[in-house]
Amino acid sequence: MNIFSGVKDILGLINKIDGSIYLKGKDFADVYAKNIALEEEIAARTKELEQANQTILTLNSVWDMMNSSQPLSSMLDKIVSILHEDMGYHFVGILQLVNEDEQTSYLTVKSSSLNPSVSKAFNFIKEPINSYKIPYLENSIIAKAIKEKKIYSTPDLTGSMQMFFPSLKEEEFKEVMALIKSKTLSIVPLHNANKYFGCVVVTSERDGITDTEINFLSLFANQIELAITVAGLFEEVKKQAITDPLTGIFNRRYFEDNIIKEAERSLRLKQPFSLISMDLDFLKKINDTYGHQFGDLAIKTIANVLKKEARSIDIPARIGGEEFNLLLPGVDSKGAAIAAERIRKSIENQVLDTIGGITASIGVATFLEHSDRIDELIELADQAMYKAKLNGRNQVQIAQQQTEVNWQQIAVDTFMDILAKKRIPVSEETAKTIYSKLNKIKVEDKNSKDILYSIVDIISQTYNQMYKTGTTKSKIILAVMLAKKLDLPKEEIDKLKLAILLYDIGNIMIPEKILNKKEPLTPEEKDIIKQHPVIAAREILKPISNIQDVIPIIENHHENWDGNGYPGKKSGIEIPVTSQIVLLVDAFYAMTQDRPYRHAYNIDEIVEIIKSESGRQWNKQLVDDFIYVVKNESIR
Ligand code: GH3
Ligand code: MG
Repeated sequence: MNIFSGVKDILGLINKIDGSIYLKGKDFADVYAKNIALEEEIAARTKELEQANQTILTLNSVWDMMNSSQPLSSMLDKIVSILHEDMGYHFVGILQLVNEDEQTSYLTVKSSSLNPSVSKAFNFIKEPINSYKIPYLENSIIAKAIKEKKIYSTPDLTGSMQMFFPSLKEEEFKEVMALIKSKTLSIVPLHNANKYFGCVVVTSERDGITDTEINFLSLFANQIELAITVAGLFEEVKKQAITDPLTGIFNRRYFEDNIIKEAERSLRLKQPFSLISMDLDFLKKINDTYGHQFGDLAIKTIANVLKKEARSIDIPARIGGEEFNLLLPGVDSKGAAIAAERIRKSIENQVLDTIGGITASIGVATFLEHSDRIDELIELADQAMYKAKLNGRNQVQIAQQQTEVNWQQIAVDTFMDILAKKRIPVSEETAKTIYSKLNKIKVEDKNSKDILYSIVDIISQTYNQMYKTGTTKSKIILAVMLAKKLDLPKEEIDKLKLAILLYDIGNIMIPEKILNKKEPLTPEEKDIIKQHPVIAAREILKPISNIQDVIPIIENHHENWDGNGYPGKKSGIEIPVTSQIVLLVDAFYAMTQDRPYRHAYNIDEIVEIIKSESGRQWNKQLVDDFIYVVKNESIR
């Protein structure tokens, strides 16, 4: 090829390249423009995505909160503060529509969150924002939003805000508006099960409202509506679960839950409460004569009387068909008797369709007065009610203080038997004096227990001169506290009280010279002393029939938890827990007294000694309970 044609070829090629370079340049400009558009779109999409992300995060936290079973008010408060903080609204309020009557409706602020300037503005109104009533005006944008179920937004803040401050003078309103720097007001309607609930009000410094914001607000509104609906349903279910459907007063379950709470409170505060138990008279006759619906009417009438007569803290409940209870917190038996009589009269005064009149029989029992156990209190109120029935119906009966009677009577009878049959070696004169004291005891008298305790003090002093007057009563108190801490049933506690009164009586058989000896005891003498519970149980008490189930408590009261006691060398749960209590009470009071061979210990020393025997002489639980009782109750 010649050079010329070669150059020509190259030139041609250059031209070609040039042309294509020109063409490529055009392409590049296009691409560049497209790129810019794309970048703008990406930026816009990213912003939307970020917003959506924020929405999801916010909704998520609302959702989490709704699953945490918080009360509605705190949920609304949180939703409002999320809207305020995350979305930057100046003011956020959830308003509820209240229809007072046909004509008057207003909005109340259920929850709100404000920035400082809005807050300042609201300070113009002296009332707290929560008790603020905003008039609901038919043509306001709130009414429009609620009725049309549509989000309304307006830049006319001054015009639309006037309704929030109806009580302000024009000057004041202007001042308020100057403080509120918002530009746009939006109203988001809220509905609850297709009924109007109210609305969310937000103000922002943005001009107008974007579609994204509208979407966001409606998502939020859905969450608020859900929270309101769930809370409403929850309230309804709760109400149904605790009320009796026929009468609308509380049901048995609610009563039972509350009597437990009341008893705990009563024991803690040492304050009584009373239980009024009542039963409609002759309901069967009403049913038979007039039909079941009139029986129901009679039942509803009683419930209405209870509702009317009860104070707001009382608990009226329908326990069964025609049985009602009324719990009176803080009321003693005197107060309860007055209340019961007022209720009885009110029932008697009712005039019922077709039936005419009805009556009820009423029993009253008081916690801490008649009993300090719930089952027993209910039983006693019931017994009193039956007494009212037997006595002729339509009357009030107060429970008998019969619970303490039994064990006290047994104690009195036992001591009289022991003295009369000369089962213990006391002088004729002492026996006579004690016997006549015992004979005079009337267990229903208030001071009878104290007389009984003082007699046991006197008997103890016949063989132990160091025995301090008053010790028996203290022993009973400590024993009962421990028994209650261990949740022993009442029957066991009664037996324990008898055991405390009787366990020591065997000492009377021990020669005085050993008991009062100043030098340490010889092994033989110790053996004699060790026999005393056995002597007491077998020889003195065995012939007395109604004390038989107290004997094992006494027989075992020197057995030790670790098996090193006597006489049976029993251990652990082989030993009745009541025996362990007797041993502890005995040890405690023995240590508080001087002995011929040692001085009395002080309380801290005693606690230390007993603590060191935990798991040895006594089971650990009992020692722990003892320490608790010593620290927390007054036992001396
Ligand atoms: P007393 O004065 O001794 O209480 O006589 P009474 O007839 O009221 O008592 P009794 O226990 O003999 O009968 C109770 C009746 O109450 C029998 C039962 O059918 C009726 N009863 C129970 N629950 C309801 C109820 O919810 N509605 C109606 N109408 N009757 C009921
Ligand atoms: Mg009846």
